[in-house]
Amino acid sequence: MRVVSGIQPTGKPHLGNYLGAIVNYVKLQEEAHANGGQCFIFLADLHAISMPHDPAELTRNTREMVATLVACGVDPAKTVLFNQAQVPAHAELQWLLSGTARMGWLNRMTQWKDKAGKNREGQSIALFTYPVLQAADVLLYQATHVPVGEDQKQHLELARDIAQKFNTDFCPEDAPLFTLPEPYIPPAAARIMSLRDGTSKMSKSDPSEMSRISLTDDADTIMKKVKKAKTDAEPLPSEEKGLEDRAEARNLVGIYAALTGKTPQEVLSDHGGQGFGAFKPALGEVLAETLAPINARFLELKDDQEALDAILARGAARARENGLPTLDATYKALGLVRG
Ligand code: ATP
Ligand code: MG
Repeated sequence: MRVVSGIQPTGKPHLGNYLGAIVNYVKLQEEAHANGGQCFIFLADLHAISMPHDPAELTRNTREMVATLVACGVDPAKTVLFNQAQVPAHAELQWLLSGTARMGWLNRMTQWKDKAGKNREGQSIALFTYPVLQAADVLLYQATHVPVGEDQKQHLELARDIAQKFNTDFCPEDAPLFTLPEPYIPPAAARIMSLRDGTSKMSKSDPSEMSRISLTDDADTIMKKVKKAKTDAEPLPSEEKGLEDRAEARNLVGIYAALTGKTPQEVLSDHGGQGFGAFKPALGEVLAETLAPINARFLELKDDQEALDAILARGAARARENGLPTLDATYKALGLVRG
């Protein structure tokens, strides 16, 4: 079992990152550790430069993201925790795979279409080729399990397509180079939506702070954001099908369910008939309770730059060593001479 996943240091991680990805990093880290597998979690700082960014902010966000991941339970003694910028093999393998990836495949990516909007011509090339770097990230370590939210499923399928085509084009049939990675997507919390708009996902890059719960928000901020969350005026239904056309209500019920380990139907059986005036404070409390220990640990860790940098340096050394055989084999399969 080889678990590989990444998160961009593009801002403060939020509830969607936590429920959609980070809780599964921790779960799979324990499974891998118990079964002699390996777990690699990286900060996708090379991905982060695909959008306009402030260099000083990227540096700060990178260290804060390490502190947050550790506060959430990612354990550098069990997981290889590092940032891409210290492992050149990610960028190298991306280039090598760029000969295999197809323009048509990338053109179909919904993240590209969403993030580029109407101004495709004005976007960076990195935003377009982002999924090829992502393929390199997981193929470099021969990942078997890739814990991600629903929004990354399409990119994982692309990574599989790239791996498959490379294996077919450049490897003997009985000795494929790349393992085809499997997405590991939690069904319940795969897609947490914005608090301001139930049709777009909660994102670090959403300009509105009110659209998301950050993992480092304190109890008062959480309660304020939940109370201001967009909803309709109807009380909660008692049956799940009553949420079908109510994206915002469905999102809040889904968050409550994910945090308490209940199904949405169980939440509705308990809270059906309640208006949001009663349900929102209940949700705010559960959220504050879940995030309080993460917050406390984050505050302890966040200012110890030396310790955070040491975690990344140690992780990067292990990542470089682990990725080397696959990188070398890729150069060789392509017929590139390297002395
Ligand atoms: P950005 O807006 O900069 O792209 P992001 O919030 O989408 O930031 P990423 O760093 O791109 O976060 O993604 C990190 C992980 O979190 C990925 O596995 C992604 O699938 C997951 N994720 C992101 N947003 C959500 C969400 N709203 N619900 C569930 N999972 C999510
Ligand atoms: Mg994203």
